[in-house]
Amino acid sequence: MLTYRFYTMSTPRIEHSLDFRADEIKKGKCVMFVKSEVDTRSQNVPTHKNCPVCVVRKSENLLELFYYEHKKHPLDLVVVDECQFLTTKQVDAVREIAEVVPVYAFGLKTNFKGQLFEGSKRFLELSDKVEQLITKCQCGKNAILNGRFDKGFLEIEGEEIVLKNEMYKGLCYSCYKKEQRRALINRETEKYIKVFKDMKTAGVWSTDTARDSMVVERPFVIYNDETKEFMKSFDDFKIENSENTLVIEDNINFLKKIKISDKDSDFLLTLINCVFKMESNKPGMLKTVIESGMMLKWLKQIKKTL
Ligand SMILES: [Zn+2]
Repeated sequence: MLTYRFYTMSTPRIEHSLDFRADEIKKGKCVMFVKSEVDTRSQNVPTHKNCPVCVVRKSENLLELFYYEHKKHPLDLVVVDECQFLTTKQVDAVREIAEVVPVYAFGLKTNFKGQLFEGSKRFLELSDKVEQLITKCQCGKNAILNGRFDKGFLEIEGEEIVLKNEMYKGLCYSCYKKEQRRALINRETEKYIKVFKDMKTAGVWSTDTARDSMVVERPFVIYNDETKEFMKSFDDFKIENSENTLVIEDNINFLKKIKISDKDSDFLLTLINCVFKMESNKPGMLKTVIESGMMLKWLKQIKKTL
């Protein structure tokens, strides 16, 4: 019988596997405890006579190890800790062990990107019983994803395994998505604060030249690649229908008068998207906003209020 129990990270660290082992030992069972050497965090597994604690390498043959221990002293059950770190081959071996004695595997289902670990995938495929150990998100809903945070922001990229418990938080889907958006805005804002600091010109004026095979009479701005990328990137952060609530005149003096020190990032993201929109009626608006340093101020305020 193979039972797979998964959970999400939360603080303080969940010690389900250790508690479970202790209970079984109290009942007089001989328990083999298995954990991957990938998990290097110090974990105090209290020793108990005849109950082996095995820290295994990725190349370790778990079936051989099991029979070795089982012959020394008959085992009643096996507990696998942080089972997401096992390889597919090792989970296959665990499945074989579960034909001899019951196995309880504990671990995370998904990594910080919300994708299955190699081990978790195989446990989902092969287990007789899959159980979710409920952990709560900060909002009170059930947590289903593991967010990894660095300097207060959700990590979007990076190595799959970083072993610092305090960096992880169990989150529900909607909080995870919110944190993901916040992290993206932070990354892009930081990037364009640097870009606009050194930018001399955001684009050049053009008149009476063919654009999309049509001759235009009104002057317009051909924006440089960095500005175009900025527009593309920040277009993703617009808040649905919020422009309707923001009353903005499309002239630069009006924009200059907007006091931003008490405004939050949502307001400023909407404001930026309004300027993008103005470009069709008032060509050059974005150029002025960027070159006057106004955009830099707005971005700094976003960074401050995220
Ligand atoms: Zn939540």
